[in-house]
Amino acid sequence: MSAGMDAGVVIVGAGQAGGRVALMLAQRGYPGPVTLIGAESLPPYERPPLSKEMLADPQHPLPVLVPAEEYGRLGIALHLGRRVTAIDRARQLVTMDDGASLPYGRLVLATGGRPRQLPFRLERLQVLRTAGDVRAIAARAEKATSVLVVGGGVIGLEVAATLRKRGLAVTVVEVGSRLLGRNFPEPVAAAIAERHVAEGVVLRTGVRVRAVSEDGGGLHATLSDGTTITADFAVVGIGITPDTGLAQDCGLVTDDGVVVDADMRSSDPAILAVGDMAAIPGQDGRPMRCETWQNANVTAERAVATILGEAAPPGEASWFWTDQYDLNVQLTGNTMGGTGNCLLLEQRSAVAGGRLFLMLEGDRLVGAAAINAGRDMSLCRRLIAAGVRLPAAMPEAAQFDARAARTLLTPSPASARPVDA
Ligand SMILES: Cc1cc2nc3c(=O)[nH]c(=O)nc-3n(C[C@H](O)[C@H](O)[C@H](O)COP(=O)(O)OP(=O)(O)OC[C@H]3O[C@@H](n4cnc5c(N)ncnc54)[C@H](O)[C@@H]3O)c2cc1C
Repeated sequence: MSAGMDAGVVIVGAGQAGGRVALMLAQRGYPGPVTLIGAESLPPYERPPLSKEMLADPQHPLPVLVPAEEYGRLGIALHLGRRVTAIDRARQLVTMDDGASLPYGRLVLATGGRPRQLPFRLERLQVLRTAGDVRAIAARAEKATSVLVVGGGVIGLEVAATLRKRGLAVTVVEVGSRLLGRNFPEPVAAAIAERHVAEGVVLRTGVRVRAVSEDGGGLHATLSDGTTITADFAVVGIGITPDTGLAQDCGLVTDDGVVVDADMRSSDPAILAVGDMAAIPGQDGRPMRCETWQNANVTAERAVATILGEAAPPGEASWFWTDQYDLNVQLTGNTMGGTGNCLLLEQRSAVAGGRLFLMLEGDRLVGAAAINAGRDMSLCRRLIAAGVRLPAAMPEAAQFDARAARTLLTPSPASARPVDA
């Protein structure tokens, strides 16, 4: 057991990652006190349903990790509606916004991120990060006939799809030359764009919102090409800024997020960071942040192993999904190539209508994207994590060979060789 157990573990940020750390510590028998402090008034919940089920139906239950009373039952001290305002590393203390101080043996930062905003403060401009935000957007949508979505990334497009299904006229404005330019391969983004257009969404790429005003007639956005879009309201989905203020103030090393090693330890070994705000070592060793449901869980699990003095859990290929209309799109690993030696090829899935995009580096699968082919995606994730070489016939086939993939994953000395063998 690591040092500092008497003062226990204090977790700052009661989102998905912070909540998971607290629950796993308690469930795995960590004997010291566990305290979870969250600025929101709600117990930890998962955000993916916010832009999907909850925006479609505001009565949809809040996707809490566990019911609030479970924290007490597990002996976790849960402080909700409380913000940590300072960290004193020398004395190993955190201060909360009510003035109270708490000692820590280990501190876990899990403060996530804040949505980036346009430089205008208007009533009809909304962002989507919290359950409160989704209720506000759903209430506006109830009375609206049109919405402008600023940002053609995942959150913006999920909002566009959900509100289109609710019957609103939707326009999406994206500054990039195409949708989802940051991490979706071009043909996958094109398939999603095509689907939005077929549903009647107006897509405007390569333009920036220059100015926004509002009056009784709605919200008016002037774009960089001089045109104006009027809508009842707008949802801005232009990414998040990691909440690293506390970490910076107490002198931790940051680089976009709080820089951590593979065990989630920051530049101060008593302080760990997890989830969206942690800059973990990427494939090339450089710090990178990852804003996904899986990363929140994986980093939480690694932090818990570090605190408990256990071996780190085995590595997984990164994984992400989005749901828009009846499209379920999943990405794993490196889907954008990047080294110049990668080749993207498309295969049919045995799942009717499913499409699979494989990113190959030589005979190794390094990334994949699946459209309505979740079953194949699970195999691809395992192929990437296992790092096996693919027999030539596999990528050459017109249809993804799930059976061959399974064979490679149940290794016999002849069928699966480690990458570096
Ligand atoms: C609308 C939406 C849809 C998404 N859909 C998907 C999806 O389909 N698939 C997918 O893989 N990922 C999805 N994600 C991403 C995923 O939800 C995030 O990666 C995940 O929530 C990150 O968890 P976190 O705990 O790091 O941060 P958060 O969930 O942001 O939690 C951080 C918490 O810390 C609190 N906090 C901040 N500062 C302080 C402080 N000083 N004191 C106390 N508390 C503080 C914040 O209030 C917040 O509650 C979605 C995200 C959103 C917003």
